[in-house]
Amino acid sequence: MTQLTNRKDTRPVRVGNLVIGGNEEIVIQSMTTTKTHDVEATVAEINRLEEAGCQIVRVACPKEEDALAIPEIKKRINIPLVVDIHFDYKLALLAIEGGADKIRINPGNIGRREKVEAVVNACKEKGIPIRIGVNAGSLEKHIIKKYGFPTADGMVESAMHHIKILEELDFHDIIVSMKASDVHLAIEAYTKIAELIDYPLHLGITESGTLFAGTVKSSAGLGAILSKGIGNTMRISLSADPVEEVKVGRELLKTFGLASNAATLIACPTCGRIEIDLISIANEVEEYIADVKAPLKVAVLGCAVNGPGEAREADIGIAGARGEGLLFMHGKTVRKVPEETMVDELKMEIDKLAEEHYKK
Ligand code: SF4
Repeated sequence: MTQLTNRKDTRPVRVGNLVIGGNEEIVIQSMTTTKTHDVEATVAEINRLEEAGCQIVRVACPKEEDALAIPEIKKRINIPLVVDIHFDYKLALLAIEGGADKIRINPGNIGRREKVEAVVNACKEKGIPIRIGVNAGSLEKHIIKKYGFPTADGMVESAMHHIKILEELDFHDIIVSMKASDVHLAIEAYTKIAELIDYPLHLGITESGTLFAGTVKSSAGLGAILSKGIGNTMRISLSADPVEEVKVGRELLKTFGLASNAATLIACPTCGRIEIDLISIANEVEEYIADVKAPLKVAVLGCAVNGPGEAREADIGIAGARGEGLLFMHGKTVRKVPEETMVDELKMEIDKLAEEHYKK
């Protein structure tokens, strides 16, 4: 598969123990749905997200009680924590003091210069970055007045305004997002801003919808952006369990060959030639490889007619063949396996290949 190696150069920005931008792979984020001050529920959700492959998590911080919960949450989680603040600089200061690894706040919304300076100085002191989150749905009034409605140019103008405020204070640990619910608008806004700045970009299609529709919409929009070599971290926004956001994000990166630590399933759509119970086997194998941290391509094919040859790029696979299966590697049959044990044998071979990859 073609790797999107010609990714746009960006400045590396550290977030906890990770780096966003530079030569690093795209980092998957999600956001909790719990009340942040409910520490038990928030920590439980974050741990579920981490298990699913979430690398950075964001929590909302609308009230002081939420900011005050940050130190306890930090103590009990393993992945970097981003605290999302809208206007209140005091909450930002509390979150930074409490151990946030990054804050999301738009400096132009904070108010008086000394308040902005207080936040920026606190971030500098702790060495944490700020994400400027431009959202087509909440552009500044003067920008909407100028452009009439949310446009990519308006979003870029808003982003540049916030960036300038931070740069004037000699602050450069910046990450920028340009989210829109309209896919065309998001693609245009990200494309335009990527031409103008070298700060890493956080990708997202906001309010994309429920699990099914939102997955399609996010994948269409973010896929177009990723294919231009743009994007350093991303969150899929779904009206669903946030674990699903992480799963979709990982799958999207795998689709573009942008995840070096995940296995991909190739499965045929089945047709009248089918010889095995392919759909349940494909689901079982998909679940199994979710834990494999190697870039293996695993194929599951319904028959051997076009079987192994159809999945030449697969590192390992099985194809149904009248009550048995053919185990193949890179399009070549390795051996026949009885139907009852073929999935187990496939799993064993997957483990061997993964082991070899880990040793490299
Ligand atoms: Fe049909 Fe066989 Fe192709 Fe699957 S692999 S779609 S069963 S011909």
